[in-house]
Amino acid sequence: MTAVLTGGRVELVNPATEQPAGEVHFASVAEADEAILRAHRAFEHWRTVAPADRGRLLRAFAALVDAHVEELAQLEVRNSGHPIGNARWEAGNVRDVLNYYSAAPERLSGRQIPVAGGLDVTFSEPLGVVGIIVPWNFPMPVAGWGFAPALAAGNTVVLKPAELTPLTALRLGELALEAGLPEDVFTVLPGEGPVVGQRFVTHELVRKVCFTGSVRVGQQIMRGAADSMKRITLELGGKSANIVFADSDLAEAARTAPGSVFDNAGQDCCARSRILVEAGVLDRFLELLEPAVRDVRVIDPRDEASEMGPLISDARRQAVSSFVEGDSMDVAFRGSVPDGAGFWYPPTVVLPKSTADRVWRDEVFGPVVSVLPFTDEADAVAKANDSQYGLSGSIWTRNLGRALRVSRGVEAGNLSVNSHSSVRYSTPFGGFKQSGFGRELGPDALDSFTEIKNVFFSHD
Ligand code: NDP
Repeated sequence: MTAVLTGGRVELVNPATEQPAGEVHFASVAEADEAILRAHRAFEHWRTVAPADRGRLLRAFAALVDAHVEELAQLEVRNSGHPIGNARWEAGNVRDVLNYYSAAPERLSGRQIPVAGGLDVTFSEPLGVVGIIVPWNFPMPVAGWGFAPALAAGNTVVLKPAELTPLTALRLGELALEAGLPEDVFTVLPGEGPVVGQRFVTHELVRKVCFTGSVRVGQQIMRGAADSMKRITLELGGKSANIVFADSDLAEAARTAPGSVFDNAGQDCCARSRILVEAGVLDRFLELLEPAVRDVRVIDPRDEASEMGPLISDARRQAVSSFVEGDSMDVAFRGSVPDGAGFWYPPTVVLPKSTADRVWRDEVFGPVVSVLPFTDEADAVAKANDSQYGLSGSIWTRNLGRALRVSRGVEAGNLSVNSHSSVRYSTPFGGFKQSGFGRELGPDALDSFTEIKNVFFSHD
């Protein structure tokens, strides 16, 4: 992390080459205050824009993102080291989310409630300025999941990308202006978390903060938001279980397991980093898993065949390494990484001694997956739930009744059966327990960017 507390220019690093990736201006507190004030003034206009026009502007923004998918993807490869195929998906996801919410302004409606003596109606009203704090692991999608529904509901947005990965957010800000969104409706403010992000939390004119990142900072935000009774949505990562029953398609479960945890080099809040396998098929599962792990193509992210890039920084690599090296950890097998520069770490499968091991309990946020056996359905659910987190998870079985029972038993916000899919723009996404609260995407996110106002009109 840099140490610029009052704004200034900062050089970014390409994590695949360790070469410069660009320069960026970090905002100071005074600049954040100015941007928030301008967003507050812009809100007075934006909330009155006709719903059809707001929808049209969001569709124009989506069309420009679509026209710039390749440019945005290349920028992400340079700044974040994501494989080019993944980066294209991420840019396309921003387009899709914008298109999805572009229909919302005309569909946001209240209710008419039967009461005595008059007419009672509810209105869904925008909140005002929304502050969005984005982490470095998925700079584009996480930004879009916040700003698209916030803008659709009639709010204005100030967005702080992570220090390490601000380039695509800045470009999205330019595209929003080019699409015709009025000045100050959507402002991107690169800067440090404790400076710009913290200002979003303390500033009276910011009515809601959406945060994605660590539990530690999420807790700080929750405490800070109390003073002004700010609305918050927190998405704080996970330690998701991938539960494999003996009656499942074992080959398919093993073939897909690496993608479920090594995508984005494991820097994924939904990573299925705890594999629980029914004891009787554990050895067979590991035999099937080994070639799948060794086959993960960890190569230059610019290469079309790349499946896994480097970690975001050397500090992250050291943090990941601390879970595995020097802890008499039983490494079952691992993949390979390119020689030379870059913050690479190989896809690694470990066999913890017990569920008390740090690697089993804590979020590694790197390409390390732990495997342990379970005895029966109840043991699988108990082990899956023995975690402070509850974000995602997968259940592999051919038994429908079991799939239903286990999916109702596991404490997590997003589960998939015989699949590892976590994110669809039309369905709610968010966590249980210390994975946070509030939901992104789908209709639930839209609701979280509005207040319900109830008005009674007397007959008399
Ligand atoms: P952080 O929680 O520190 O950072 C996430 C975002 O919050 C960044 O934009 C950061 O800014 C900002 N931030 C940091 N401090 C504050 C603050 N006091 N007030 C407001 N905003 C703040 O995560 P890290 O990047 O340090 O990663 C640490 C761990 O967090 C990971 O190992 C992983 O376990 C978890 N994590 C989870 C994510 C998820 O998807 N849920 C995403 C990222 C991390 P800045 O860039 O300046 O630090």
